Amino acid sequence: MRIQLLPSTFDSQGHATSEQRLTCFLIDDCVAVDAGSLALAATSEQRKKIRDIIVTHPHMDHIASLPIFIDDLFPTLKSPIRIYATQVVIDLLERDIFNWNVYPRFSELKNHYGPVIEYVPIPAAQEFKVAHLNVTAVAVNHIVPTVGLLVSDGRRTVAFSSDTSETQEFWNIINRSPSLEALLIEASFPNSMAELAEVSRHFTPASLHRELGKLNHKGVDILAVHIKPAYRQVIIDELNTLNVPGLRVMEPGRIYDW
Ligand SMILES: [Zn+2]
Ligand SMILES: [Zn+2]
Repeated sequence: MRIQLLPSTFDSQGHATSEQRLTCFLIDDCVAVDAGSLALAATSEQRKKIRDIIVTHPHMDHIASLPIFIDDLFPTLKSPIRIYATQVVIDLLERDIFNWNVYPRFSELKNHYGPVIEYVPIPAAQEFKVAHLNVTAVAVNHIVPTVGLLVSDGRRTVAFSSDTSETQEFWNIINRSPSLEALLIEASFPNSMAELAEVSRHFTPASLHRELGKLNHKGVDILAVHIKPAYRQVIIDELNTLNVPGLRVMEPGRIYDW
């Protein structure tokens, strides 16, 4: 399974930098987990293949370019883009984003070939199919309804925490999985901002460290993501001092293969 965290910040020459402001993971160049930077950073080859987008929650850093991505492809789509989200998140997207004010309600529009998007409500804690992948979504502990994901291609399994603080069911489904190659987990704030992390339901390196005690699998690649750019170096230093085997920071743009 090939996974890329799409870049969301660019230097004066237009090259991707390591700061992550938006969240969008591409799996095997065709399935997106969240769509923060999807329309900004996907290559034209990837754009042709991506027709399945899982939205973990409706925060702007996770959906910022979803409307733009659909808009871009609008005239050329021969089949709808499938947007997988829990029903409560679908309702929020329709109410707050695709509401004719912020952007058109694409679910009511058609191009020459037919509908351009299709919502696929995802069931909690029950496996469903997304392209060639088997996915299980489970509620995590964030300030809006949010799911973490366990994704398998039949050979390899990778877990995505999305945005969360201390949680339990996510670890239960991971630990029930026969194997786990990688865990992509958030570390948003430095330890000095534990209080803000708590109220906004995010991890610090210290709270992430406690949480990782719930992981039963050994030898897992643990990639820290969602590091707030303003505190990036402090958070990286704090993560490094944890000395957790396999823990490192995920680099935007790089392709990880498991
Ligand atoms: Zn969030
Ligand atoms: Zn976020």
